[in-house]
Order: sequence, then structure tokens, then C-alpha cells
Amino acid sequence: MLSDLLQVFEPPIVEIPSSAYVHIPFCRRRCFYCDFPVKVVGNRTSGEKSRSISDYVEAIKREIAATSSIGKPLETVFFGGGTPSLLSANQLTQIIESLHRQFGLSSQAEISIEIDPGTFDLEQLQGYVEAGINRVSMGVQAFQQELLVVCGRSHCVEDIWKSLEIIRSVKNVPSFSLDLISGLPHQTLAQWQESIATAVKIAPNHISIYDLTIEPVTAFGKYYQPGVSPLPTDELTAQMYRQSQEILTAAGYEHYEISNYARKGYQCRHNLVYWQNRPYYGFGMGATSYVQGQRYTRPRKTSEYYNWASEYVMAGGVIDCPPTPLEETLLETLMLGLRLKEGVNLSVLSQLFGAAKKDKIEQCLQPYQKQGWIEFVNEESSKYARLTDPEGFLFSNVVLAALFERLT
Ligand code: SF4
Repeated sequence: MLSDLLQVFEPPIVEIPSSAYVHIPFCRRRCFYCDFPVKVVGNRTSGEKSRSISDYVEAIKREIAATSSIGKPLETVFFGGGTPSLLSANQLTQIIESLHRQFGLSSQAEISIEIDPGTFDLEQLQGYVEAGINRVSMGVQAFQQELLVVCGRSHCVEDIWKSLEIIRSVKNVPSFSLDLISGLPHQTLAQWQESIATAVKIAPNHISIYDLTIEPVTAFGKYYQPGVSPLPTDELTAQMYRQSQEILTAAGYEHYEISNYARKGYQCRHNLVYWQNRPYYGFGMGATSYVQGQRYTRPRKTSEYYNWASEYVMAGGVIDCPPTPLEETLLETLMLGLRLKEGVNLSVLSQLFGAAKKDKIEQCLQPYQKQGWIEFVNEESSKYARLTDPEGFLFSNVVLAALFERLT
């Protein structure tokens, strides 16, 4: 059960982080929907062959070494991107060793890496596993070649199958996740059903389903308008969401978070830290850290990040930013916690933010209970508010907007 994974909630300002996110910003090309902080390196270079990647690995190691350990070994590490599988096994090993030296790594630590089809071979993945990786998450996005082309992905369907073969042949990858995107331009319901059914046949332990968001600064932002053809209508994307829920839960996956499904025991422990609004270290370009109540996002541009990182190292790892105000922490806790199937623990919120705030939240949520989007549940002497699945999850924006209006 999810609650087995939850620790006793402490305010983020007090809790010592035991998670670290490392951002690896390199990609072969920029996908048309992506606004992440990435640096395009093209198809022909990766690992030690790329000067940009080698320099960045050194900068990350210096950033890690300059960061004070507050005293707890890491329980989760997540290499996200970008395309972290453009790192060589040797480079990944060096970063993991830096983390180990600086913070310690629990023997049970979950160490995840995002990988993209066609960017790694057997030897490399075997090297990652030897370095300590025990969870890989592959960005498949779609199983139809025409949709991969529409998205500007650097991989093709053949790459997906070859990469799956590689993952299967590395015997000791204990946990494997697939990402898919719904709501793509020209995507039909039949294609979506095919993608979900194919994912079920592949049988990973974890599946993430992201609904496409059109970001204004992307190529998609220039060419498409949400809800207008060739993008699917809101009704069709809602249908895709309901179908994913139906097919995946019938196949034995638990819908433990608004966009994530897992077999029992395979939830992503690292991402749970975010959703529980607990603290974590962050390293690399554009990465956010949340340590001792300070939420800080590093510069998103390469040169600015390098300048920031040199100053950070020279200043002995001090980040000059005020702690997140309590009001904001409450809103973040609600926004993130309601993403989880488990919902938010109102009894804990009452202890942390006061009974008056908790009452306000409950009153604000009551109309949505009548609508069938929210339920209140008493479990183990705590009261939880949670979004229903799938309808509450589908309309979470409406519920959150009402909470924000009421509480700010
Ligand atoms: S591979 Fe991922 S991070 Fe890189 S451009 Fe595409 S979506 Fe963005």
C-alpha cells in the first residue's frame, strides 16, 4: 500500500533531504513540444566524445562536492533530462561516486535514470547497472512512427524495439518504466488504445501517461492551439485518459498518481518525495532543489548555469534565497498531494498550518464531493481528502483553482 512508503510528514524546513535530482540537459534534437532546459548535441556525439558533456560532468561533480551534507544518506537519486543516456557509463559512475562521497548512499537506495530509445547499447546499460542504477524509465511516447515524426522525436519505432531487447538482456534491471504521451496532434483514439495495449504487452513495472501540454515557447506552441484540430478536442483527450485508467487498472496497475501507474511495490520513490512536498537536493542546469525550506531553481541557460555554478563553489555552497513562505508551502502541499491517489492528510495539514486553514480547505472541497470529484476518507486516525479516479483526476485543475482562490 502507498501509505507503507510514506514517512511521517515533517515540515520541509525541518526534514533532512535524502533525495537528489541530477539534471543532464543534453538531447540529440529538441522535440517540438519540449520547453525543458536542454542543449542540442546532434546525433553523432555522446559521452566522452562530446566536449560539452564532459565539461558538464565536471561542473556537476564540483557542484555536488560544494554542497554540504546535512547528514542523511540518500534514499533516492534521479537522473533526468534531457537525455541522461547520452552519458557514458564511466561518466554516470563518476557522478554517482561523487554523490556517495558527499552524502552517502543507502544500500536500499532507488537510483533511476531516464533513457531514450536508440541512445544506449548493451554494454552501456550494463555499465549503468554496475554503477548502481536499479530503475530505468524509457521515453517511448508513442508506438506509431507517424506520431514520433509529428513530435520531432529523434527515435523511431524500430529503436524502441531494439532498446527493449537491450533492457531485457540486462538481467538485473529490477525496475523498468515506460512513458507515453496522449493528446498529440493527429492522434486518434484507436492509436492511443494501440499504444496502451502495446505497453501492457511489454509489461513494465511502471507506466507514466502524460497528457500533452502546449507550451507557448515551443514549435507546437507556434503551430497549434489547444483543443483545435489537428490537436484532439478536450472531449477526446478526456476519453483517452479514461481509457488509460480502465485498461491499465484492469491489467493490474495501480493508478497511484494522476499520471502514473505501477505494479504493487514499484511506485517511483523519488517522485513520491516531490508529491509529498518533501525536501531534495538538485544539481545541474535548470534543476530545482528544496533544502531547509529554500526552493531554488538554477539558471536554465548553459553559460548562466556555469557562471552560477562557479560562484556557488566559490561561496562554499551557499544559496542566497529566502525560505518559501508558509502560505506557499500550504498551496504546494495541496497541489502536489492531490495528485496522489492517497490524497492529502487533512489531520497533518491541521497540525502544520492550523485548524482554521484545514476547515477552510474542507469547506472549499465540499461542493466537489457532491459532484463526485472529491472524497473524504478516514484511515488510521487521519482524515484524507482525495480526488476520485478518473473523474476527480480529470478535473483536478478546476478543484485546485478553487482552492487557490479561497486560500490566497
Ligand atoms: S528528449 Fe525529452 S528533454 Fe529532450 S527535447 Fe525531447 S522531450 Fe525534451
